[in-house]
Amino acid sequence: MKPTDRSCIVIGGGISGLCAAYWLTQENYNVIVLERDAAPGGAMKTVRKDGYLIDTGPNSSLETTPLFNELFHSLGIIDRRVYANENSNKRYILRNGKLHAIPMSPGAFLKTKLWSTKGKLRLLKEPFIGRANGEESIAQFVERRLGREFLDYAINPFVAGVYAGNPEELSVRSAFPKLYRLEEVYGGLIKGTIKGRKERKQRAEQSKQSAKMFSFIDGMDTFSNALGSVLGDRLILNAKVDSINKEKHGFTVTAETTEGKKQYSAQQIILSVPAHHAAHLLTTIDSSISDILSKIYYPPVTMVFLGYKTDVISQPLDGFGYLIPAKERRRILGTIWSSTIFPKRAPDGYAALTTFVGGSRQPEVTDHDEATLRDIVHDEIASILGVSEEPDFYYLKEWKRAIPQYKLGYAETTERIEQFEQSHPGVYLCANYRGGISVGDCVTSARRTVDIIVQKG
Ligand SMILES: Cc1cc2nc3c(=O)[nH]c(=O)nc-3n(C[C@H](O)[C@H](O)[C@H](O)COP(=O)(O)OP(=O)(O)OC[C@H]3O[C@@H](n4cnc5c(N)ncnc54)[C@H](O)[C@@H]3O)c2cc1C
Repeated sequence: MKPTDRSCIVIGGGISGLCAAYWLTQENYNVIVLERDAAPGGAMKTVRKDGYLIDTGPNSSLETTPLFNELFHSLGIIDRRVYANENSNKRYILRNGKLHAIPMSPGAFLKTKLWSTKGKLRLLKEPFIGRANGEESIAQFVERRLGREFLDYAINPFVAGVYAGNPEELSVRSAFPKLYRLEEVYGGLIKGTIKGRKERKQRAEQSKQSAKMFSFIDGMDTFSNALGSVLGDRLILNAKVDSINKEKHGFTVTAETTEGKKQYSAQQIILSVPAHHAAHLLTTIDSSISDILSKIYYPPVTMVFLGYKTDVISQPLDGFGYLIPAKERRRILGTIWSSTIFPKRAPDGYAALTTFVGGSRQPEVTDHDEATLRDIVHDEIASILGVSEEPDFYYLKEWKRAIPQYKLGYAETTERIEQFEQSHPGVYLCANYRGGISVGDCVTSARRTVDIIVQKG
């Protein structure tokens, strides 16, 4: 049977797929979402246990796009959104075993021991450095523009915190397009930051530095669950898509569901699954795009959440948390002080600390069993924060393939994806391996995909 023109199957009910499906329904499309898991949200999941609230994937989001406000209003969850505690602007980096606050004012910059005088003076050269000759990693870009010390003790830990990535491998152009543009368009980071403010104002966008950080009083899954509720029976859970077939009119998708194998047809499909799953599903349609997608690397990351009595921690938890440069040779990437940032993350008198291990830097650390990982993380936290007792609570979540790495040469991957979409009308790829990995990026990419579909009619 010929499916109606305005019909779409979204494969994958993570935040990208849910937003795309929601907006398509607003455009009067006939939509279903097929999601493999028993709950919507993909990486966006919240666990509530023993008085703790644990976001096992994204812990927060930056309000980088006005789409958030629009969505939260129409989903009726705007009142449940919470902004991060003001203290959270304070972030620490570990150097020589000690936490140093990242300076937020010129005075603090001059005083900080996070960087040496030589390292600070090196920053003064930045406006006089020309453009790159070819593609660079974020490490090459930062070392050239800002010097080695800034790479080691600012950007290296930052890349671990955002991508769980390795700065030597990630493409500055693809993984940090806004930073890249500052050089490309304005000729430098300092010049670009000043001039770029105007542009963003016109687009009503917020830079990542100035955007407010938010979550929800009941955790990040408030967002994905609200989208799931509005979609209602158009969201089919426990439905793992096995194959996609191109038909004369549209597509047929076969999924393993709780009621056995089922087939669904639609005029268009959006693949909102991780790249390796998309690679598998597209083999029958275009083996060369499958090959490209299967090569996108997602390192493993384990989230280790520990709860401590507040009075056994000597370091005041007066900020967002800390990040750890590779040079410090620790076995963790960094720790978020969850109960400082948002309310109700831990019972009264207890602190909730969320630590990430693994990533591209040390994928092998995630191979340890749960008990060993808990001990590793506790030992590191105890030495950094001065903790005198064992944790009272722990919870671990292993992400075997956590975050796509936009490595050197990624622009070609993106281009091939675009060419694929052009040569296969009706198939769209919309997930975090394209257009950015943050929640804000995923929401923006979903809106862009829907706009393209609607425009094509
Ligand atoms: C540990 C961690 C911490 C993070 N922290 C932050 C943060 O603090 N802030 C931030 O902005 N971002 C953060 N991110 C990034 C951000 O959360 C993700 O990039 C984003 O949520 C990805 O959404 P998505 O919909 O593209 O993909 P996913 O969330 O991966 O969703 C894909 C969905 O497809 C489903 N699926 C797969 N195969 C099939 C199939 N065959 N059939 C049907 N369904 C299928 C999966 O079950 C999944 O639900 C973090 C990510 C991780 C992993």
